[in-house]
Amino acid sequence: MSPQDLKLLSTNELKLFFNSFDTIICDIDGVIRHFQRNIEGAKKTLSLLKKNGKKIHFVTNNSTEIPEKLLPFLNDVNGEFGVEDIAMPSMALISYLKRLNLNQQIFIMGTSDFQKQFRDAGLSVFDSDSIVFLNVVGDLLDENVASDIGVVILDVDYEINFVKLAKAVSCLRSDVVYLTGASDKYIPITKTTPLMGPGLFHNMLYELTGKLPTNFGKPSSKFQEFVLRKFNITDPSKVLLIGDSLTQDISFGENCGFQTLLVLTGVSTLEDIETDTIVPKYFLDKFTDLRDLLQHC
Ligand SMILES: [Mg+2]
Repeated sequence: MSPQDLKLLSTNELKLFFNSFDTIICDIDGVIRHFQRNIEGAKKTLSLLKKNGKKIHFVTNNSTEIPEKLLPFLNDVNGEFGVEDIAMPSMALISYLKRLNLNQQIFIMGTSDFQKQFRDAGLSVFDSDSIVFLNVVGDLLDENVASDIGVVILDVDYEINFVKLAKAVSCLRSDVVYLTGASDKYIPITKTTPLMGPGLFHNMLYELTGKLPTNFGKPSSKFQEFVLRKFNITDPSKVLLIGDSLTQDISFGENCGFQTLLVLTGVSTLEDIETDTIVPKYFLDKFTDLRDLLQHC
């Protein structure tokens, strides 16, 4: 079935639409903000939806910042939304690792804010700045198993380099737990020129080691379990997922049994909707159009 443009619904149909969900699961990047800039009117739209009785939770694949740093992009009025309203892959990973009772360190390729979340949770994170390339080569030549590392995590790392990747290759020869948050191959800086996402590095390590990470971001089942549990969602049919990516957001929503709304301010385009096998239930040019629609029905 082709997706419905919400702007083409009649007033009655719009009323039925707004009454069909009590909870919103909202992506952040490409919906509420572009990098460090809010999409104009996004905070006021969130505020209006909340005033209309909708519970709003934020589910992002972006763990590169600590969740506290996201709050200024969400709150029109201070305190409307808190860290407890946000789910990100780092949180799902930490929850998983805490249950493993690890004795060894975690080698993380991720931003300093990403790593900080694991340290703050009491997990032992390997100091990736201490890697010496010749030692890594020595490990490989000796065929010694990297016994100091029990877990390798590869997320978005703006400072990834040859030495870190060589260390990862060395670790992945042994039976380490290999995990990721975001699995995106590309980071969409602009529509025409994306940058390298962690998925490209996953592919590189796969070519070298034959190993792929277990995914804890959208659309994975691990993240699905975490999100449903964290936000205590018992009736998925009453949830509207709003996102800008067919492969990450809309497929996650479909897997969860949510209604889905694609907005065209981020990764996926109208042409993608027409050609992709993943089809949202609804689409809109932008998230802030919801504010106008709500005010006119
Ligand atoms: Mg997004």
